[in-house]
Amino acid sequence: MNKTIKGFTTALKGLSITFGHLFSSHKKREILPASDNNYFKQLEGTNTIQYPHQKLPIPEVGRYQLDVEMDDCIVCDLCAKVCPVNCIDIESIKATEAIGQTSDGTTKRLYAAKFDIDMAKCMYCGLCTIVCPTECIVMTNQYDKSVVELNQLTYQFSDMTPEMAIEKRKEFEQQQAERQAAKLAAMQKKEDTE
Ligand code: SF4
Ligand code: SF4
Repeated sequence: MNKTIKGFTTALKGLSITFGHLFSSHKKREILPASDNNYFKQLEGTNTIQYPHQKLPIPEVGRYQLDVEMDDCIVCDLCAKVCPVNCIDIESIKATEAIGQTSDGTTKRLYAAKFDIDMAKCMYCGLCTIVCPTECIVMTNQYDKSVVELNQLTYQFSDMTPEMAIEKRKEFEQQQAERQAAKLAAMQKKEDTE
């Protein structure tokens, strides 16, 4: 009998805690940024927010989805080299001449045949954004990037087709071959005159 009473009172206690939380959690969460002093004081009696109709403000210094402004990229590969998890994959092709300038006036001499970032691997350390000499790789405020397939988290920033890449490689190789031939011809001519 004692055991029955004990079990009954324990169940009552548990239920009173459950109902206590149920009835106290009628308060709506205020939309406050994490930097607000009251941000962590909202846990008691608070429902979740109605995402995605409501969103919490994100900190200005937050690190989220990466973006690359390719017009300003000089394809120097520094971001890929510094990345601790190798999630940036760049293939460059040397151009036969200067191909333009970035917005800070840096001359562009390389094409990006490939510029992929695998955000599934990215650990949001921000190192790539720090080393970039033209500040063209940046952390945006986009954090909701739900996808169905994992490979959809690999973002491709180069718009160069494989055919264009083959053509540009050929152009550079041809230029190198012509330069080499001209150099050899000049050496031969010098030898003939001596
Ligand atoms: S934020 Fe860090 S992990 Fe992500 S791509 Fe840049 S360097 Fe790599
Ligand atoms: S460091 Fe900047 S300029 Fe260099 S390849 Fe990366 S994004 Fe382009």
